Amino acid sequence: MTRRTSPTSWGLYPSIQQRNLPLHQVADPLPTLAEPVLAFGNGRSYGDVCLNEDGDVLLTRGLDRFIAFDPATGILRAEAGVLLSEILALVVPQGWFLAVTPGTQFVTLGGAIANDVHGKNHHVAGSFAEHVRAFELLRSDGTRLCCGPEQNETWFRATVGGLGLTGLITWVEIQLQRIANPWIVAENRRFSNLDEFFALNDDYEARYPYTVSWIDCATAGRTLGRGIYMAGTHAPPGALIPAASPRRSLTIPLTPPISLVNTLSVRGFNWLYYHLPRPTRALTPYPAFFYPLDHLLEWNRLYGRRGFFQYQCVIPPASAHEALREILSRIAASGQGSMLAVLKRFGTRTSGGLLSFPRPGVTLALDFPNLGQKTRALLDRLDEVIRQADGAVYPAKDARMHGDSFRHYFPQWSQFTHFIDPHFSSSFWRRVMAE
Ligand SMILES: Cc1cc2nc3c(=O)[nH]c(=O)nc-3n(C[C@H](O)[C@H](O)[C@H](O)COP(=O)(O)OP(=O)(O)OC[C@H]3O[C@@H](n4cnc5c(N)ncnc54)[C@H](O)[C@@H]3O)c2cc1C
Repeated sequence: MTRRTSPTSWGLYPSIQQRNLPLHQVADPLPTLAEPVLAFGNGRSYGDVCLNEDGDVLLTRGLDRFIAFDPATGILRAEAGVLLSEILALVVPQGWFLAVTPGTQFVTLGGAIANDVHGKNHHVAGSFAEHVRAFELLRSDGTRLCCGPEQNETWFRATVGGLGLTGLITWVEIQLQRIANPWIVAENRRFSNLDEFFALNDDYEARYPYTVSWIDCATAGRTLGRGIYMAGTHAPPGALIPAASPRRSLTIPLTPPISLVNTLSVRGFNWLYYHLPRPTRALTPYPAFFYPLDHLLEWNRLYGRRGFFQYQCVIPPASAHEALREILSRIAASGQGSMLAVLKRFGTRTSGGLLSFPRPGVTLALDFPNLGQKTRALLDRLDEVIRQADGAVYPAKDARMHGDSFRHYFPQWSQFTHFIDPHFSSSFWRRVMAE
């Protein structure tokens, strides 16, 4: 057991102290718990849902074994600390793929369930939980509950999207999707404003299972909301695959004292990225299509020692257009732009979890260097728009939302509290419940 002081979530903020308790076997009982405890997957959440200041965290990466895989049905059972990247390495050569994957493959099965993560195919496949057949939930009193859509269903609904608060997920069984080819047929289209985005989206969503857009949030006026639309589908069996040049990952070697992401670099990067010539249609290896950021290891260090805030919101369809325009205008006016601004429309499939984030509407995700109060004030101003539009902010990406906003975004929170394990807690939960 060691105490550590380094920041452990992806946004490098907040920086806290917590005690690490590594787990090794799913059959082991939970360690004796004097302080509140929380499972920690691979720390790919941006804020404090995976942190437990002054408490203990159960490191789940040691639960890393595959339990069963049937290549005839695509049903896979594995321990909760297995990474999605490890699953892909096993199943892609056998003609299977994850039914839903987030924008990084370095997340654990347990983490994917606890945040009920979504991917580029939400409009056709819903969120991660829809493809979970079963998992085991270990409670601090030693009870082991096998949960699924039809078994201990209320525990299942509380635990998917349940932010790790209902207990420890020890193993998970998921349904994979069949693919004929690991390559992706990808299309790129530039759009010059939000109206064009919505028009393109109607067209592409009807034809492609994977859709997402990058937007330039440093511009205003006529070009407000310009960006690049990206769509893709798994290539057919006979597709002629280009010779792949081996792609080596790069690593940001150290954390600079101040953020390298600032008004100037954002403007320059966004202009270049928007104007960069790119093929309209190309065969692309699946990691480059799904996980472009994974290529640059430790890219979060670019934001310097103070870290950064990610802000991801969803806005219901009726108010999406107007609220997006208002959000982008407020960001442009603040001068605190973002390089990684991602826009996607969620489909109408509702998520299973009491606290699941995905819901019908448009979701926008943005990164902001942590400039202290200035950034918090901007994000509070964005919250005003989201609350008015009856939207929500994603806890997996959050380190600063106010408790009253959380309760507004997730009205089932009080029902959820009945399922919280009395020995489990998190920095996020204490923060949003404190007010
Ligand atoms: C580059 C990047 C891109 C991303 N793209 C997306 C995206 O497209 N869509 C999306 O939805 N998210 C996305 N995310 C967020 C990420 O998918 C989620 O935060 C995910 O939950 C992280 O999983 P993790 O294993 O790292 O878990 P952690 O971040 O360590 O923990 C997340 C939560 O899971 C709980 N938990 C972990 N393991 C267990 C367990 N065994 N039992 C019980 N609870 C557990 C923790 O307590 C915590 O509440 C992205 C993150 C990054 C860095």
